[in-house]
Amino acid sequence: MNARIAEAAYDVARVRADFPILSTTVRGKRLAFLDTAASAQRPLAVIEAVARYERTLHANVHRGVYELSQKATDAFEGARERVRRFLNAASPKRVIFTRGTAESINLVAQSWGQRLGPGDEILITWMEHHANIVPWQMLCERTGATLKVAPIDRRGELDLNAFRSLVSPRTRLVAFTQVSNALGTVLPIHEMIAAARAVGALTLIDGAQAVEHQRVEVRQLDCDFYAFSSHKLYGPTGIGVLYAREAVLRDMPPWQGGGDMILTVSFSGTTYNDLPYRFEAGTPNISGAVGLAAAIDYLEALGIERAHAHEQRLLGRATSALKAIDGLAVIGEAQHKSGVISFTLEGVHPHDLGTILDDEGVAVRTGHHCAMPVMEFFDVPATARASFGCYSDDEDVDQLVRALGRAREVFG
Ligand code: PMP
Repeated sequence: MNARIAEAAYDVARVRADFPILSTTVRGKRLAFLDTAASAQRPLAVIEAVARYERTLHANVHRGVYELSQKATDAFEGARERVRRFLNAASPKRVIFTRGTAESINLVAQSWGQRLGPGDEILITWMEHHANIVPWQMLCERTGATLKVAPIDRRGELDLNAFRSLVSPRTRLVAFTQVSNALGTVLPIHEMIAAARAVGALTLIDGAQAVEHQRVEVRQLDCDFYAFSSHKLYGPTGIGVLYAREAVLRDMPPWQGGGDMILTVSFSGTTYNDLPYRFEAGTPNISGAVGLAAAIDYLEALGIERAHAHEQRLLGRATSALKAIDGLAVIGEAQHKSGVISFTLEGVHPHDLGTILDDEGVAVRTGHHCAMPVMEFFDVPATARASFGCYSDDEDVDQLVRALGRAREVFG
């Protein structure tokens, strides 16, 4: 869609009115919520869908013959179908509910990863979130496989040539983020998937920072695994998704045992349930799934492309305004960026900066953003990070800029 047309039609004041928390105040100041990359706020439609479920539909799923249990099952499986449609996956069997991105990646590492051994390689990038580093380190320790890391450059972009040269016939899985949460970099995932395919390696995409900002069609991407969290997509916490190609899933052993994932249990042997239930042991987060489906409905009604165009405009405006501040350095200046700006302010530790900004009603994240290798690469202990969502507006940016001016006064 033409970005200018999309932006012209975007009424951010109306969007903001859908999010009750945005009209609350912090220390008597207007809340400028600029931490959407950590967790997005929820629109009323999501809050109400969860409340409606809790008030009128709740029972355990898949087990009862009574009406309420069937209604709860319909709501839960309806949510799975909603996710399937959102991702344009071929079948709901490929949509596994998890607690979030981290659990989705751990599922793959613990189940699919069991087959790896010495000589096998997993390739990630230097800008991964810890959730896409540590499960692979743990897997390599268990199996003797080797973890390879593709380098980045000073702009915060992947070195694609180096990445390609690290892909080899030993590579069994290439796991990478679609958008860096610490830098905002949008990765060239089509090229990366093609490079992995060329050697027969599987691909896992960490979509935690991507799926809420751009349309993701898993069939068109042709990836093997795609992971994301509901709470970054304006939905509840404690629920997320692992999409996986069916042939790959069929070949994977269960990873957690319990109710729902079995067909029969006997001391002489247990048989496992069909997909996707084989990977969903125990009572699931039913209201969370309902909330996630409502969040997807909300975002699609708003228009992902329109919200994205709006966020891109804010990113441009904020980047120019921040770079004009004396002593401020933007960390991560990739050509293609999502609505995330990491920065440092000379002479002010990011944590002190966060506290001053909080005094001014500005909520930004400060720290290593669960991406310590990125901090190490840029040789900073931490950064402050402002991130945008569909409800962010010009006033949020102005409030941030004013608060940064105040920080400069305080720290001389
Ligand atoms: N990957 C990325 C890129 C993220 O930004 C996050 C959340 N900060 C995660 C993975 C982990 O998501 P969750 O904590 O919801 O499992």
